[in-house]
Amino acid sequence: MYNFNNIKAAVFDLDGTIYFGSQLAYMANDVIKKAREKFKNILFVTNNSAKSRMQIYEKLKKMGTDAELSELYTVSYIIPQYLKENNYKEVFCIGTEDLKNEIRQNDINPVSKTPQAIVTGFNPDFALKDLNELANIKIDKSCKLIVANKERIYPVENGYLNAGAAPIVGAVENLLDKKTDIIIGKPNTEMLRIPLCKLDIDAEEVILIGDSYESDIVMANNYGAQGILITKEPKNDCICIKQLADLLEII
Ligand SMILES: [Mg+2]
Repeated sequence: MYNFNNIKAAVFDLDGTIYFGSQLAYMANDVIKKAREKFKNILFVTNNSAKSRMQIYEKLKKMGTDAELSELYTVSYIIPQYLKENNYKEVFCIGTEDLKNEIRQNDINPVSKTPQAIVTGFNPDFALKDLNELANIKIDKSCKLIVANKERIYPVENGYLNAGAAPIVGAVENLLDKKTDIIIGKPNTEMLRIPLCKLDIDAEEVILIGDSYESDIVMANNYGAQGILITKEPKNDCICIKQLADLLEII
């Protein structure tokens, strides 16, 4: 039905695609195995900016997947890559200690009093007091607001939804009286550009499988890759399947 002969990489979203909270999606390991055989390159991307790349990798391992660390791209990993590429050395991070550590590991100060950028990530334990230090920092006009993503909600176990990064970004924008300058996560294409450039794979040689039209499919379309949406409400501008396991029948 579909021709994937030119495809060299399959990119999988994680939350709501490969797993739901701590529950692996039905037949996920079979899907990953078949995609690996057919396309050779597998990537996993997640808008998660609260946990480190290593923590998500350990979660995937614990669930019994054969994912490699080098195949995993979290926003917490991509943010410091972006900061490095653009010569940021001093930032102030509103986010988890794990995100701050990912930034530190790249020789960038995440708690600067004279920041070139405010970096905002998701934190499930976010509280208003987390903004007090930022309220006391004098922000230069040139200071950028760089955010992980603007997802309002995300799925966890049994169809339950949790509040996402967007409400935290909204709080930071309000405090600074400033709009977001750069969104690193999906649907921005940094999550594809940074890993695929390393692999020397072109956009038209990529399929991206995800459960969110607004983040996954819009990113795939923006990048020029083929989006495959897991959905019960079909869309016109991407391939639609009802569940991840259906991929076994079309690839
Ligand atoms: Mg998802």
